[in-house]
Amino acid sequence: MSGKVAVVTGGSRGIGLAIARALASEACNVVISGRSQEKLEQAAARVREGNSGNGRILPCVCDVRNFESVERLFAIVAAEFGLLDILVNNAGISQSATPVEKTDVALWRDIIDTNLTGTFLCTRTALPLIKRGGTILNVISVAARDSFAGYAPYNASKAGALSFTQTLRQELMERGIRVTALVPGAINTDIWQQVMPDAPREKMMEAESVASLVLEAVVLSPKANLTELVLDPIEGAL
Ligand code: NDP
Repeated sequence: MSGKVAVVTGGSRGIGLAIARALASEACNVVISGRSQEKLEQAAARVREGNSGNGRILPCVCDVRNFESVERLFAIVAAEFGLLDILVNNAGISQSATPVEKTDVALWRDIIDTNLTGTFLCTRTALPLIKRGGTILNVISVAARDSFAGYAPYNASKAGALSFTQTLRQELMERGIRVTALVPGAINTDIWQQVMPDAPREKMMEAESVASLVLEAVVLSPKANLTELVLDPIEGAL
């Protein structure tokens, strides 16, 4: 892993931050992105803290909903590193429970733009930098298959992202680029403030469990692809 280059979208907290820390501990160069420079600087400091790896940690603002912003992110990656080994499409938002007929149109668009279109925009822009042996990991959700009532935009965004991931895997097979869908159940992060503030945090998994799966996926032989990793809380969380 030493010297490899990774981009983690939504790397300022939660699952993305845990993934960034795990990759950095393996001496990867890690670019973390999110919408707030200040939060990214703080996150980068946390990734560097107690990290024995000697890779660079580069905080870089990018709003995955915005194509120009995404192009700026990968232009920086190209200028700084010349190539990309690992892309983690993790940036995502959720919502509070709302029936379809009361779902705000702007909220629908925001969730689809972030979770689905953001994954497409980052992948499309990053691909010229990813060579044979590279890995793309998309953080999906069990909501891609278990459609939870009241969460139509989120469910649809994740089902779409899973389908996108499957198509991408087929397309990139012959180029030797691996594509993995990470499909977690409830993880104890800030996103639950949006989803269900009183959900039982003590039953949820920690973000580090997802991060350890990312390491498994990227250290595999280049001939093998972990296609889909489903991770559920042992006690169920809801
Ligand atoms: P958090 O809310 O803790 O973190 C979300 C991250 O995404 C932040 O870094 C945030 O930074 C970033 N982000 C949000 N919107 C954008 C945007 N438009 N452009 C760039 N970055 C953005 O959530 P989690 O860590 O829990 O979630 C990470 C991913 O995991 C999401 O895709 C989520 O759907 C998925 N997931 C989470 C589960 C859970 O139980 N926690 C379970 C299954 C899947 P900022 O706001 O500063 O931009």
